[in-house]
Amino acid sequence: MDVAEFRRRGKEMVDYVADYLENIEQRPVYPDVEPGYLRSMIPAEPPLEAELYEDVLRDVERVIMPGITHWHSPYFYAYFPAASSFPAMLADMLCEAIGCIGFSWAASPACTELETVMLDWLGKMLQLPEDFIAGTHGQGGGVIQGTASEATLVALLAARCKAVRLVQASDPKISEADIISKLVAYTSDQSHSSVERAGLIGGVKMKKVPTDQHYAIKGDVLRNMLEEDKAAGLIPFYLCSTLGTTPSCAFDPIAELGPICNAEKIWMHIDAAYAGSAFICPEFRPLLNGIEFADSFNFNPHKWLLINFDCSTMWVKKRSDLIGAFKMDPLYLTHENQESGLVTDYRHWQIPLGRRFRSLKMWFVFRMYGLTGLQAHIRKQVGLAKEFESLVRADKRFEICAEVIMGLVCFRLKGSNKLNEVLLKNINHTRRIHLVPCQLSGRFVLRFAVCARTTESRHIQEAWQLITQLTYELLQEQPL
Ligand SMILES: *Cc1c(COP(=O)(O)O)cnc(C)c1O
Repeated sequence: MDVAEFRRRGKEMVDYVADYLENIEQRPVYPDVEPGYLRSMIPAEPPLEAELYEDVLRDVERVIMPGITHWHSPYFYAYFPAASSFPAMLADMLCEAIGCIGFSWAASPACTELETVMLDWLGKMLQLPEDFIAGTHGQGGGVIQGTASEATLVALLAARCKAVRLVQASDPKISEADIISKLVAYTSDQSHSSVERAGLIGGVKMKKVPTDQHYAIKGDVLRNMLEEDKAAGLIPFYLCSTLGTTPSCAFDPIAELGPICNAEKIWMHIDAAYAGSAFICPEFRPLLNGIEFADSFNFNPHKWLLINFDCSTMWVKKRSDLIGAFKMDPLYLTHENQESGLVTDYRHWQIPLGRRFRSLKMWFVFRMYGLTGLQAHIRKQVGLAKEFESLVRADKRFEICAEVIMGLVCFRLKGSNKLNEVLLKNINHTRRIHLVPCQLSGRFVLRFAVCARTTESRHIQEAWQLITQLTYELLQEQPL
């Protein structure tokens, strides 16, 4: 493909993408394929000779589209949203064209510098404390990680390194392995599975703090666990608290947990993967009160802030905590400005070396929507969730299972878990809408998350109509 053909094909691809998104509602939201469906549809061997572009594109419709779960369909209500917008897609095209690997300042100064400034912009939209803003002289600042899972792990590894140094400072004879075997990290029984996984990867014990009736950690429960563990000779060093848990969008009281962590020299990381985006709205910002006690904070603009995957923004109060934990300086990566104190080398802030120019899509989206446009998006989706909630509440056969604060509604039929499992299966089998379940207090619960940017009231009404129709049919067969 030469540049002339690229010019033509590129325009056709934009048309294909625009048509796809414009007509996405007409496709079944969930695919009708069996595991292994794809292998038989394409050759077992790679092509020896070049093929025609038309043939490749034809196979997109034949092979790929039948196996796609359409996350941007307004009938998609599963998991949490995957953000998407046209400005972000255009910026990503440019990112691919520049194609730099921005591991250091010198590897592409704009890639690094725009990222630092975009994290400052976003930090200001969230009204983060000054400590988290890089500015020109700050000790803190932000970085784009690929996912919230990586942010949780990076924070845990930095905390582990800091804890080891702290213990060794008072007792130089104790070995690192000895200290690590005594370290304990904490999170709640509602936190995302990636937190437990960070403990496994980081080789430290991870304890789950039981939550209260609101699915949140209580300060005194945490304090008791810490006292017991310290009395047993263990060393508490890390807490990952959640703002907006995955099962039910519950919020840990970070203003209560933060002072406990600070007093015990425990690193507090906050995972707000989904809910973080909503803190740009003043009415949701109080849920972030207590952020001043945190050492690190992360959320996914790629979930709810109209910036396509991947873009998981993480801030730290002391960037030296991250850089100090993972620094490596082979000669081929050093550059003449790195000791100037004026540049950031993001390779020290993350696990991989390579990184894409992801701040471009933040810049495009922030400028094309403005803060008010982004706030309007959040508020609209919360409004749609409230609309769904009132439909559920008006039907006595159903119950709401957790307070609806943002764009997630947890609900179930009053009755057995089995009944709800069958209802969900029937819903998903229609392929007209798509939902996933969660478990809350031992009960099987349906999660309805407002996801696609183009979801409107009529989609919510249609979804509810389908659910009630299937409920009617189900109850004919198996009464409550
Ligand atoms: C979605 C989610 C995650 C995982 O996000 P990734 O970016 O895919 O790692 C972590 N924590 C919470 C609370 C989430 O909702």
